[in-house]
Amino acid sequence: MSGVEYLNPEYEVVRRDERCIRCRVCERQCANEVHFYDPQRDMLLSDETKCVNCQRCVSLCPTRALKIVRSDCRLRENANWDGDTIREVYKQASSGGVLLSSMGNPKPLPVYWDRLLINASQVTNPSIDPLREPMETRVFLGKKPDRLERDEQGRLKTTLSPQLELSMPVMFSAMSYGSISYNAHASLARAARALGTCYNTGEGGLHEDFYAYGPNTIVQVASGRFGVHEDFLEAGAAIEIKMGQGAKPGIGGHLPGAKVGPDVSRTRMIPEGSDAISPAPHHDIYSIEDLRQLVWSLKEATGHRKPVIVKVAAVHNIAAIASGIARSGADIIAIDGFRGGTGAAPTRIRDNVGIPIELALAAVDSRLREEGIRNSVSLVAGGSIRSSADVVKAVALGADAVYIATAAVLALGCHLCRTCQTGKCNWGIATQRPDLVKRLNPDVGTERLVNLMTAWKREIMELMGGMGINSIEALRGNRLMLRGVGLNDAELRILGVAHAGE
Ligand code: SF4
Ligand code: SF4
Repeated sequence: MSGVEYLNPEYEVVRRDERCIRCRVCERQCANEVHFYDPQRDMLLSDETKCVNCQRCVSLCPTRALKIVRSDCRLRENANWDGDTIREVYKQASSGGVLLSSMGNPKPLPVYWDRLLINASQVTNPSIDPLREPMETRVFLGKKPDRLERDEQGRLKTTLSPQLELSMPVMFSAMSYGSISYNAHASLARAARALGTCYNTGEGGLHEDFYAYGPNTIVQVASGRFGVHEDFLEAGAAIEIKMGQGAKPGIGGHLPGAKVGPDVSRTRMIPEGSDAISPAPHHDIYSIEDLRQLVWSLKEATGHRKPVIVKVAAVHNIAAIASGIARSGADIIAIDGFRGGTGAAPTRIRDNVGIPIELALAAVDSRLREEGIRNSVSLVAGGSIRSSADVVKAVALGADAVYIATAAVLALGCHLCRTCQTGKCNWGIATQRPDLVKRLNPDVGTERLVNLMTAWKREIMELMGGMGINSIEALRGNRLMLRGVGLNDAELRILGVAHAGE
């Protein structure tokens, strides 16, 4: 392999020397070791080849002396060979390795949320003022009976399946301890409890300190079975079987040994410093019947007291897959679209595999309704839910609730530098380095997450009120509340919405 590097720096560090007071904050804050001090010249200098544009130094420079700009020394790109594609060829020619990336698919593929518009009441169906009228944003996730039976005294005879109660239709999606830091997990757990929603352990087990947040925790069972044991299953409010992830459908996970310190090793039940590799399939699941066995095993293990979620990536035949999962005994199906984030994924998989959550969700909701089994499961949509408007659109397309992850880490301070896989997150989120972890104060993290969700909840209530709807459950699958703009007939048919103006 040739280590010859043909790549020019992607970013330039612009330092206004007249403002620089030589405090060397930038040098201390950059885990990528870009900045260094030259005592001979009494100057701060930069090795720009290492900069990932995480903006940490820019944010913390006390005199605003720094800015990071994309280098205008561009490669000889054209419409076919864009700069990123050329860079990737150079990188592979140098390393011989599979390219790794993090966060969600950045390609300019259609974002259907932005092509959907929400209805509002005018004249005939009055809108509701959420400041004056009660608005219900609570949702209950789990199997619902098709009809209720009562005895002569009016008491309920129907046995209800276990439900996950959320104060609003938004949960924090799976992010494992290992891929994100202890303080990031602490922030998510505390915020979930304060908000009355849930966060998700991801595939890394549950750190002993977080058992206290069990009623607001979804515990995940993935193909590697890391950290899965009886107490872990018992701790959560619901159990999620991870079959797939939107950012990397069809492949397993890989947490490098460098991130497996003593705490992560104990939580995952693997040796310190060893790579945590979860296989692509669950080795005991090759059919819906096999999945059914695992669903029922987990229910048996927890006395049928907890809803079981099956999480799948949005892929081409997702409607048929979801129909099978609904019949497997699962209570909730979580569908993760191709823009979903990740701590690390092969770039080619992240950018080329899967389908948009909007189309997958609409297709699944329609299929389950056609088959008369929509009440057998709740649907949770994830994979780039960016705002309260996306939440409302997802519910109107058929979701009972959504998962958010990228928006949550942005609230924690992530600047989307997309280099989580290096473990050198300067914002203390996607790292296990103690000096970096402590940069994220969990009190501040919790407050910011609570603020974000509080703001979204208010906006959701305003959007609901505008439509004349006072209960979020009344909006579920109500596609009459949506109109498409600039979409072709096939897209409108799959989404099940009319074009604006119709
Ligand atoms: S990697 Fe981040 S902290 Fe380091 S120089 Fe670049 S923007 Fe600044
Ligand atoms: S979590 Fe950290 S490393 Fe990952 S994209 Fe955000 S700032 Fe960058």
